[in-house]
Amino acid sequence: MGKPTIEDLTNRVHGGVITPSDEGYDEARRVYNGMVDRRPAAVVRCVNAGDVLAAVGFARENGLDLAVRGGGHSVPGYGTCEGGVVADLSGMRGVRVDPTSRTARVEGGATLSDLDAATHAFGLAVTGGIVSTTGVGGLTLGGGFGHLARSLGLTCDNLLSADVVTADGRLLVVSEREHPDLFWALRGGSGNFGAVTSFEYRLSPLENVYVGLFFYELEHVEAVLRHYREHIATAPEQLGAFPAFQIAPPLPFIPQDRHGDTFILEVVCWSGPLEEGEQAVQPFREAAPVSFELVTPMPYPALQGLFDALLPPGLQHYWKAAFATELTDGAIAAHAVHGPTVPVVTSTCHIYPVNGACHRVAPEATAFSYRDASFATVIAGMWPDPADDAANTAWVRDYYAAVAPHSSAGGYVNFMGPDDQDRVTDNYRDNYARLVDTKRAYDPENLFHVNHNIRP
Ligand SMILES: Cc1cc2nc3c(=O)[nH]c(=O)nc-3n(C[C@H](O)[C@H](O)[C@H](O)COP(=O)(O)OP(=O)(O)OC[C@H]3O[C@@H](n4cnc5c(N)ncnc54)[C@H](O)[C@@H]3O)c2cc1C
Repeated sequence: MGKPTIEDLTNRVHGGVITPSDEGYDEARRVYNGMVDRRPAAVVRCVNAGDVLAAVGFARENGLDLAVRGGGHSVPGYGTCEGGVVADLSGMRGVRVDPTSRTARVEGGATLSDLDAATHAFGLAVTGGIVSTTGVGGLTLGGGFGHLARSLGLTCDNLLSADVVTADGRLLVVSEREHPDLFWALRGGSGNFGAVTSFEYRLSPLENVYVGLFFYELEHVEAVLRHYREHIATAPEQLGAFPAFQIAPPLPFIPQDRHGDTFILEVVCWSGPLEEGEQAVQPFREAAPVSFELVTPMPYPALQGLFDALLPPGLQHYWKAAFATELTDGAIAAHAVHGPTVPVVTSTCHIYPVNGACHRVAPEATAFSYRDASFATVIAGMWPDPADDAANTAWVRDYYAAVAPHSSAGGYVNFMGPDDQDRVTDNYRDNYARLVDTKRAYDPENLFHVNHNIRP
């Protein structure tokens, strides 16, 4: 039998195949990062596991690059490729909640918004990221940091099982009991091991959260960061918080004449009893004088969508990331120099806490190795105009160069930029050798290489 042709593929796939001559090709090849301009030979619009198997088989048999796309948010644009095949899972977004067992079965192309909306109906949630358009696929496979991380851990810590299409064309059900080595690798090892057609998560009771946005003047940067460092180490685990450098968007609680000014912001989420919310956010008023604040209870999915409008698809993205075991005075000094120069309202630097439930999982228990980190920093350049590429990437690079001496060599794989392939071993440290062994067992030819690649 010869190699399958595009016609064979089209005949086999239920969801449809889009090639460069088809209408809708430009839409189909687009990903979230507007800087990424690649022209795949075929975009397979998968609607079931059979379609995913067909796309994977077609790429393997024809020796083509294969990109698996979930939500398409990857900053380096790993949801597409040049001249190869895209298995686009964005048509697979179903979520089935079992309120009795408190679990959800979620298709591999769902977004956080799909997941949160479905679980919220039952007063349940799983921890995710902070922008609702992000795909559960890439987010979970890399780890998954969100507002609830201190109490619920990473998203991957709440994964119970997954259905995976492997490079050799099998569909495996993977869990602690079945293919435990692959299950281990999926929890942090990113898209290296197969295409996940569905994820099963453990859910936790959560309906509403108590949210605080606190804007402080730049003269208080060091005080705010020192307070954050101390407070987040010991605060109750239902408290999520992170500092951010932020140009004030035109929000109603910020006076008009301050729109466009730069601040240090604390984003606070209390997921404990609402009546304790006021007490939980109060310490952020004591860190330094607060210029403007928004403090209110809201449904958890509303918090998850809070930043969506600021970050539409199509912005240019260039990011850098690092973990740190401590937020040293030196690091704070570096943030105080570079954070305030954030060039555009959509760009930012966030410093997420890594403690609580994240630390209760041993470093070798999942592929995600940095369980001893206390902070995950991301410098996220996001700007609208390609003409500003040079200035904005320079801002990210200079900022990162200043914090790197105060950081670990590795960073969170999902916050890494396109030029961070040489940091993959650092991202996984002692877990790297086991990841390579698992890669050899499940993808010896490295079919799944459009990612922060673990080479077999
Ligand atoms: C605006 C924005 C906000 C973000 N906020 C957060 C945050 O709060 N917390 C956080 O942890 N991360 C966050 N991220 C990072 C995010 O986790 C990564 O970009 C992640 O890779 C996105 O997953 P995706 O499915 O949307 O991306 P895609 O581009 O579709 O995929 C990313 C990678 O995962 C692989 N992949 C995706 N789905 C599957 C699947 N079903 N099976 C196998 N492989 C798959 C792809 O092959 C690719 O290598 C954010 C990113 C952006 C752009």
